Amino acid sequence: MTQNMRPTDFKAIYDRFQANVSRFDCGRFCAPLNNGQPVCCDTTHAIPVVDKPEFALLKSRTDLWTRFKPHDATARNIVSGLHKDCVAVECKGARFCERDNRTLACRAFPFYPYFDRKGELLGLGTYWIFADRCWLMSNMQVVERDFIKEFIAAYEYVFERDTGELQAMKDHSANHRRVATRNNQPIVLIARDGGFIKIMPRTHEVRPATERDIVKTGPYKNPRAYAKAVKEAGGELPAQSPFIG
Ligand code: SF4
Ligand code: SF4
Repeated sequence: MTQNMRPTDFKAIYDRFQANVSRFDCGRFCAPLNNGQPVCCDTTHAIPVVDKPEFALLKSRTDLWTRFKPHDATARNIVSGLHKDCVAVECKGARFCERDNRTLACRAFPFYPYFDRKGELLGLGTYWIFADRCWLMSNMQVVERDFIKEFIAAYEYVFERDTGELQAMKDHSANHRRVATRNNQPIVLIARDGGFIKIMPRTHEVRPATERDIVKTGPYKNPRAYAKAVKEAGGELPAQSPFIG
């Protein structure tokens, strides 16, 4: 395994991976269910993990990020299980977000680069455990073409230099296939050139897919489920409906 990424490589990635994931501020849709915090900016849900050279770059640019201090046993387990080249970090919170100083993980969430069994990068898979909280995962049709292009280019840049990260994403894809087979559910991906494809459970055959294959989950199933979940969470309905037709 090689890890040849330097802080300047992460700078090159940050310079090239700036596209908005969509024209929606999706944090406004998930935050009412999470005490007003976008789910992916809250370490009780998602702990950002960066390579040490990425952390070095961030520290040279901003005081936004510090090492993450685990708040419970689950978080302690996550941190202690990290590869020695990685570090768990946390920012000052969504109100203080600095767009240019978001990590690669922030920019890419909720997507990861999906590899098939032959090791080909097919497109953007999702971190499936967030499906019940992340609005975007139920609405992947809003993802912009520029974002897809920049996402693929950013990760290909990383994989050319870091075979450890490449293997980690191949392993993650294999894990996704196992979960999909267990649940007998296809994996819906955003294809690397746009559009949708799906990976069938068990056979892992690749088939074309459409917007209709995107699974709407939990509170994002319909307006009634969303209104009920927001009420239960003690939140306020956003000014713009998250059901965008
Ligand atoms: S990506 Fe998902 S979790 Fe993050 S702000 Fe958007 S809807 Fe919320
Ligand atoms: S830097 Fe911004 S996008 Fe990243 S976790 Fe913090 S608030 Fe969220």
